[in-house]
Amino acid sequence: MNVYTGPVFEMAKDQFVNVADYLDIPEDERSRLLYPKRAVAVAVPIHRDDGRTEVFQGFRVQHHLTLGPTKGGTRFSPDLELGEVAALAIWMSWKCALAGLPYGGAKGGVACDPWSLSRRELEAISRRYMQEMIPFVGPHTDVMAPDIGTNEQVMAWFMDTYSMHQGHAIAEIVTGKPVSVGGTAGRREATGRGVAFLIQLAMQRLGMKGQSSAIVQGFGNVGSTSARILQAEAGIKITGVSDHTAAYFDPAGLPLAAIEAHVGQRGVLAGWSHQALIGPSELLIQDCDILIPAAVERVIDDSNAGQLKCRILAEGANGPTTPEADAILRDGAVFVIPDILCNSGGVIVSYFEWVQDLQRLFWTEAQVNDQLKQLLTKTFHQVVDRADRDGLSNRNAAMAIGVERVRAGKQLRGLFP
Ligand code: NAD
Repeated sequence: MNVYTGPVFEMAKDQFVNVADYLDIPEDERSRLLYPKRAVAVAVPIHRDDGRTEVFQGFRVQHHLTLGPTKGGTRFSPDLELGEVAALAIWMSWKCALAGLPYGGAKGGVACDPWSLSRRELEAISRRYMQEMIPFVGPHTDVMAPDIGTNEQVMAWFMDTYSMHQGHAIAEIVTGKPVSVGGTAGRREATGRGVAFLIQLAMQRLGMKGQSSAIVQGFGNVGSTSARILQAEAGIKITGVSDHTAAYFDPAGLPLAAIEAHVGQRGVLAGWSHQALIGPSELLIQDCDILIPAAVERVIDDSNAGQLKCRILAEGANGPTTPEADAILRDGAVFVIPDILCNSGGVIVSYFEWVQDLQRLFWTEAQVNDQLKQLLTKTFHQVVDRADRDGLSNRNAAMAIGVERVRAGKQLRGLFP
């Protein structure tokens, strides 16, 4: 079992072993639980705008089909590797099981730089990738969604490519689509809305009162939505933001609307201001009440974990904290909302979208948000109660619940799925 390599896969494996030890899972059951059922690698050839032919590498990893179809995002990023995709698929499994969704985890993507592609090239990659995936996905087999570098438009191209192959519209093949082609109200904001809601639950639990401040790393779908909702609905001051081009920090608070308008026009944070610029790694260790990594994996490690000054670490991104950093944080005063809980609003509302598509019956945004909050509240309390009961970190408590549920399904069904 060595096709899955690299630091992100090792991290998912270490986390699993940690929890498997606590749950006393026998050695011979562990590989069956950890290693993905299926991994597909495909060539994605397109004509570039300058007339050249270029071949990109695409992947899809399906972790398990024990509890239902697999579900997971599609990432377009330059350095994407199979091991990273597998780790993300495994985390999706624990996340879906933790929220009680009838899914296994999956993840996929194409190793390409979406920011350097023209719209025509992006469409060509999206359509060809889905074309190559048609034998392996389906509304009852594997349902895709957006992730880094993909968006509603990419999901619409996926849905159209799959549907035209079948001869009729099949909205339920992907989630995170535009509402006009079968998407759900509230999906675009769902992950960030969930992050913001869970932060408020954590603040209540910690008895945090008065004006709080937040720093957000990553200003894409998850980061910008979390920041906007925290400021608008919870009165939280956003003092720091960053993306892959720039980082800004101002203890007095940043003008979020102006920053969003700049990103709306230019696509990136760079060029917004020269006044509040700060080094990207410096940003994470500034004074704040809430730190939200909402970009990429492994940004909090043993080199900076001991320097964090936040009270709450809300993991909007998948895998932002390494196991070495976890060990440091355990001894400190930081309340961690672990990724598989913190960003689960995205897959929860994706599940609502899939259910609505299958039923051809659509909900209002208020219904979606209300159901989302109910499920997040229940899951948050399950995690913190388990952590209290067994003296676990919030991450190990969340993972233990997820792993137990997948394991129970496998014990009942047997070896196939
Ligand atoms: P996105 O593509 O919309 O935004 C990603 C952001 O991160 C961009 O602003 C980009 O500039 C920034 N970024 C990239 N590398 C960076 C770096 N090294 N330092 C600082 N910023 C950097 O992606 P997204 O959908 O917002 O996803 C962000 C994270 O949230 C990912 O870990 C993703 O897996 C996770 N997530 C997303 C969803 C969802 O519904 N979109 C759901 C669950 C989890």
